[in-house]
Amino acid sequence: MNFKDYIRVIHDFPQPGIRFKDITTLLQNGEVYRGAIDELKKLVEAMNIDVIAGPEARGFVIGAPLSYALGVGFVPIRKSGKLPADAIEASYSLEYGKDKLAMHRDAIKPGQRVLIADDLLATGGTIQTSLNLIEQLGGVVAGAAFLIELNYLNGREKLGDMDIVSLVQY
Ligand code: 5GP
Repeated sequence: MNFKDYIRVIHDFPQPGIRFKDITTLLQNGEVYRGAIDELKKLVEAMNIDVIAGPEARGFVIGAPLSYALGVGFVPIRKSGKLPADAIEASYSLEYGKDKLAMHRDAIKPGQRVLIADDLLATGGTIQTSLNLIEQLGGVVAGAAFLIELNYLNGREKLGDMDIVSLVQY
């Protein structure tokens, strides 16, 4: 299955000069969406993970079905102010813009092996911040899984020696 054929590139969104990779065209095709999750499952199976953490909002779209497929829990990483119980926060910058991410303090048990899942790896800022939060909670980041990796932004280099898998590269 050539997943790239199902990703739509939108020029100048959300800002001039950005070539936004729109995954909604992949998600709306049930066979291709399931194929992508099944493929990611194969790539991460050997990582021996206990739980998946995914950043709001597109990280949920990848992380939650992957959790279901692997039979492990799912932990949402949310924007500041959205989580109802006691949470920790960390600031981050995106390919465009800045924000804060948060996790419930009891979301990860010390020593748990965590896979971070998101739709796309760009500069790596989102994943670095997610990693920071998970490590503050005592979790061990076993790896990260993406539909898409933007090689030209070198996000992978920021993430040290964690195991990183992606289905489509630009
Ligand atoms: P990073 O933090 O690696 O620079 O940016 C990755 C985050 O920004 C991901 O959470 C992703 O959802 C979002 N993002 C950045 N650029 C794009 C894009 O072109 N397409 C999509 N779908 N998401 C993007």
